[in-house]
Amino acid sequence: MDRIVVQKFGGTSVATEELRACVARHIERAISEGLRPVVVVSAMGRAGDPYATDTLLQLVQEAGESANGRDVDLLLSCGEVIATVVLSRFLTRRGHVARALTGAQAGLITDGRFGEARILRVEPRRVLEALAAGEIPVIAGFQGISQDGEVTTLGRGGSDTSAAALAVALSAEALEVYTDVDGIKTADPRLFPEAVTLERATYREVAELAHVGAKIIHPRAVEIAMKGKIPIRIRQTTSDAPGTLVCDDALLDPMEAEPEDRPVTGIAHIVDRCQAVVSPPAGDSSAAVQLFEALAAAGISADMIYVSPDRIAFIVAGNLEGRMKAVLQKLGWPHAVTGGLAKVSAVGAGMHGVPGVMAKIARALHQAGIEILQTTDSHANISCLIREEEVSKAVSALHREFALGKS
Ligand code: ADP
Ligand code: MG
Repeated sequence: MDRIVVQKFGGTSVATEELRACVARHIERAISEGLRPVVVVSAMGRAGDPYATDTLLQLVQEAGESANGRDVDLLLSCGEVIATVVLSRFLTRRGHVARALTGAQAGLITDGRFGEARILRVEPRRVLEALAAGEIPVIAGFQGISQDGEVTTLGRGGSDTSAAALAVALSAEALEVYTDVDGIKTADPRLFPEAVTLERATYREVAELAHVGAKIIHPRAVEIAMKGKIPIRIRQTTSDAPGTLVCDDALLDPMEAEPEDRPVTGIAHIVDRCQAVVSPPAGDSSAAVQLFEALAAAGISADMIYVSPDRIAFIVAGNLEGRMKAVLQKLGWPHAVTGGLAKVSAVGAGMHGVPGVMAKIARALHQAGIEILQTTDSHANISCLIREEEVSKAVSALHREFALGKS
């Protein structure tokens, strides 16, 4: 049976001829190792580049009245389709036989939620046909087709999810995610250049990092790969560095795991958050029910939720501020809304049950003069809400406190 590797190349990885040559080298290396590459691509470039997702999105937004989800998805899906054809032509010029496929052609069947569709199943018949014919399938990420035949998109970072779902459907040996950094780092290098690259990490750690804002990979992609037991390697398109291997604890050398000394694996952050603090009517035991049902009905998902008899607090993404305010006004309870916030999180699968992690976080932020507005935690992370302009200072303070640069 063929040994398949799914190789996903992000937007910046396919943007220029020079980069496409790097992409081709990774594909050719896989072939030389006896693997059959299945390639997944994102739209080329970043906002401002002609065929980038944000540029396409601007096209409909400029048109004034908000376009319907179906049309937006149809338009956005073109970015990846363009990238598949450009890359497969490039591979052909290098002597390979490549076949460009849309998400629909590759059999990515989704539900019908435009802009945030979920993959229901993969029917990879045409991908397997291409492989059987000795071709390299080059598949448009970020998109699929609904059961009633509409083109859908999977939301930001969706190409990661496409690649993971294909890797599982094809029983791939590995999923390789190529991007503009050389692996998963102890913090976002854009904010904190001293962050170091992790050689290995568990699915849980990476999913948690991704959930709290590290956009290096989509959390759903990690979960799909975890369920399918497909090891992920995150690498840099422009280098041969081994990157970060993401797999199960069991595959990691237990002698090297030191959860007690290293309760924190990395620091993640997410900006543009908006906090609401609500004072429900005294004695109204159904206040939380009313509030969260109203938010849900308005399609608003809340995070960092805190409920007590006299106070309910939560945060939402900045772009939902207006809608959230409308919900709160309708309820008519006293409330305060603060925008311009950020959430910084210390993440580590080894922090559960380790005393003193919160003490360290509180101390590091306090010493840096940063006020904590709210916190939440799970078994594998502690998140603090702070002012957005302090996020860089907070990340470096936490990085230092947990000595993450010294691996
Ligand atoms: P792609 O287009 O290849 O999917 P993304 O921009 O989605 O690339 O993801 C790569 C970016 O993720 C990096 O440029 C980096 O700024 C950001 N990032 C955030 N957190 C981390 C982290 N912990 N490690 C590495 N990169 C991170
Ligand atoms: Mg991405």
